[in-house]
Amino acid sequence: MDFKGLMNPALNEEIKRLIALGLHRRCVDEDLPRVAGLTLEINRLKRERNAVICAHVYQTPEIILGVGDLTGDSYKLAADCRKTAADTIIFCGVHFMAETAKILNPSKKVYVPSGNAGCSLSEAITATDVRKLKAGHPGLPVVTYINTSAEVKAESDCIVTSANAEKILRRMYEAHDKVIFIPDRFMGANLAKTLGKTPGRDIILWNGTCIVHEKFNAGLIDIYRRRYPGLVALAHAECPSEIIAAADFMGGTGDMMRYIGNTDAAAYLLVTECGFGELARLKFPNKNFVAMCRLCPYMKSITLNSVLALLTDPAPQEVTVPEDIAASARVSIEKMFELAA
Ligand code: SF4
Repeated sequence: MDFKGLMNPALNEEIKRLIALGLHRRCVDEDLPRVAGLTLEINRLKRERNAVICAHVYQTPEIILGVGDLTGDSYKLAADCRKTAADTIIFCGVHFMAETAKILNPSKKVYVPSGNAGCSLSEAITATDVRKLKAGHPGLPVVTYINTSAEVKAESDCIVTSANAEKILRRMYEAHDKVIFIPDRFMGANLAKTLGKTPGRDIILWNGTCIVHEKFNAGLIDIYRRRYPGLVALAHAECPSEIIAAADFMGGTGDMMRYIGNTDAAAYLLVTECGFGELARLKFPNKNFVAMCRLCPYMKSITLNSVLALLTDPAPQEVTVPEDIAASARVSIEKMFELAA
């Protein structure tokens, strides 16, 4: 790789930094100077505005590694953003994640660098739906996946992420015979199976799905197994049960990354959003990964250009949550931190 033609020493240093992070293995040579120009300017403006960038693992590697300060899955980002001293949080993730950050950091400004960063799970259920569910099942605790709006969280008893849902549900079943789990029907069914519970009898589910994880094909896992002997298939807990049954491991993205780090399989098949696989390849360059991923259009609506545009003119993309909603939602999120500890 030869960048001799470049005259800007700061840009050359940034290119070297990105290469040290392994990003040259993702970008073609001609593209690295462009990416470096963006990361250089974003990091400069971020310092100037005392902002911190949270980057979810489904973002692109140049966002996670190039400009991200806090990185990880939903749980880690929610936990870590509570500790930041920055005045401003720029959330490179979807809207419900930024709302969670705002709820936990009411005095800080929180922004999402996209107007299209929704989530099919979050949009699958409203606060009115939850109130009706509660009225239909009086006395049952409402355990809610973090992929929901602030209003839905405010109607819930405890929030969970894929990293802690099993643990928290086990705690809930110590005091209750039956719980309401919303909104992901696949994750709910997968958890019910793990816990030996019966949907409809022990756990009331909602009909939400993730548009990325619901579409994987279990038959392909068997095809890949035949092609790559020793392959280990890891599937996200949002996948339908036939995918989980065909896989070797089910978990959230944090669990999946730890699994890869702690094992030495001949090859890994990652059944989740593509950004996770890209990051895994950079983190573990000596391991073999087989592609089976789908892009989340909401997550991928955020780019380095949109982050830079936000830092230049943040006003339109500020995330706000009414204080009464935030206060109730905060209780259910804090319950998660308490039970997950
Ligand atoms: S991957 Fe699925 S659950 Fe995650 S943000 Fe996209 S649509 Fe929502």
